[in-house]
Amino acid sequence: MANKKVVIVGGGVAGSVLAKTLQEQAQVYLIDPKEYFEITWASLRCMVEPTFAEKTLINHSEYAPNVHVITSAAVGITENEVKTAQGRVVPYDYLVIATGHDEKTPSTKREKLSVYRNENGKIKSAESILIVGGGPTGVELAGEIATDFPGKKITLVHRGPRLLEFIGEKASKSAMKWLAKKNVEVVLGESVTNLDSNQDGGVYRTSGGKSIVADCHFLCTGKPLASSWMKETMLKSSLDNKGRLMVDANLKVKGQRNIFAIGDITDVQELKQGYLAQMHAGVVAKSIISLVNGKQKLEVYKSGSQMAIVSLGRKGAVAEISGMNMSGWIPAKMKSGDMFVTKTRKTLGVK
Ligand SMILES: Cc1cc2nc3c(=O)[nH]c(=O)nc-3n(C[C@H](O)[C@H](O)[C@H](O)COP(=O)(O)OP(=O)(O)OC[C@H]3O[C@@H](n4cnc5c(N)ncnc54)[C@H](O)[C@@H]3O)c2cc1C
Repeated sequence: MANKKVVIVGGGVAGSVLAKTLQEQAQVYLIDPKEYFEITWASLRCMVEPTFAEKTLINHSEYAPNVHVITSAAVGITENEVKTAQGRVVPYDYLVIATGHDEKTPSTKREKLSVYRNENGKIKSAESILIVGGGPTGVELAGEIATDFPGKKITLVHRGPRLLEFIGEKASKSAMKWLAKKNVEVVLGESVTNLDSNQDGGVYRTSGGKSIVADCHFLCTGKPLASSWMKETMLKSSLDNKGRLMVDANLKVKGQRNIFAIGDITDVQELKQGYLAQMHAGVVAKSIISLVNGKQKLEVYKSGSQMAIVSLGRKGAVAEISGMNMSGWIPAKMKSGDMFVTKTRKTLGVK
């Protein structure tokens, strides 16, 4: 093992694969406020079936036993150190930023499982549910609840002109049709104006003047990138106006010698998808293995074919694969059965 220190900030989809790949090649430090990796794309299934969640949360120490895990958020970066919220200073020879999107989520697996149980209790005890946001999270949640709890009255409010705006219009139409069949009421082009984080249930008002009565709501609007903390660091000039880290063809942060970025946090022009984030990790792993062994060969990242699958319950899905729209059992067979949990666990080498 090379005597170089590699620090990875963020143990999500990209950071976990990188940590696992590099753990025998260098001294690897993984900084993450959570002690576990979370299979993000399975999280909506966990809300309707909390026992499913056990397999979707994997402690970093389980898939990367040789990595030094530091359970804290990174808050500062200098030319050779990362500072954490708990005041720890972690030196590095190579640094990789993989912080994806910002989400306030518990730091232990036990607490996260309890969150899923609470959300499940909330769904079960409600007769009517409001879902706010018609991106992949809102649509997948509506699909999960409508499938597992067909008696509930579900209303989905989305402020954009169509659902799933991140992919083509045909996918939006297929999702609309599927939701209509399941009696989910979709309100487009309006936002909910009286959301109160301290209060669940009651009369919700929309910008278009509608009143929606629901026993509870779930907020499924897009999450911001986890880059605001970098605005106070030496990387502030490497952020673009959307808060993404600007990278070159080697996924090296522009203007930096020994700092890389991977996953959703980068400005790579492609769909923000986990399988692409894992490809970033593969490319940067090769470069770092070369660098820690005294070579200078850096890998070039070439974006793969663009694919997005949005599940609609356990047997439905819509997808866009290389610009082609698809719906029904074929994309559902790919994702909706076990939400890629077996595949993701296999990638990380856990049973
Ligand atoms: C509903 C839904 C369904 C999806 N379905 C699919 C799918 O089917 N297939 C697919 O390929 N993709 C899918 N995606 C997209 C996929 O989840 C993301 O592209 C992927 O999670 C991005 O990986 P990442 O590693 O960049 O970020 P994340 O996986 O978001 O990981 C970021 C990590 O950084 C940590 N972090 C944040 N801030 C800090 C900090 N300051 N210091 C240290 N650590 C920090 C977080 O705790 C987290 O562990 C889906 C997304 C959603 C919302």
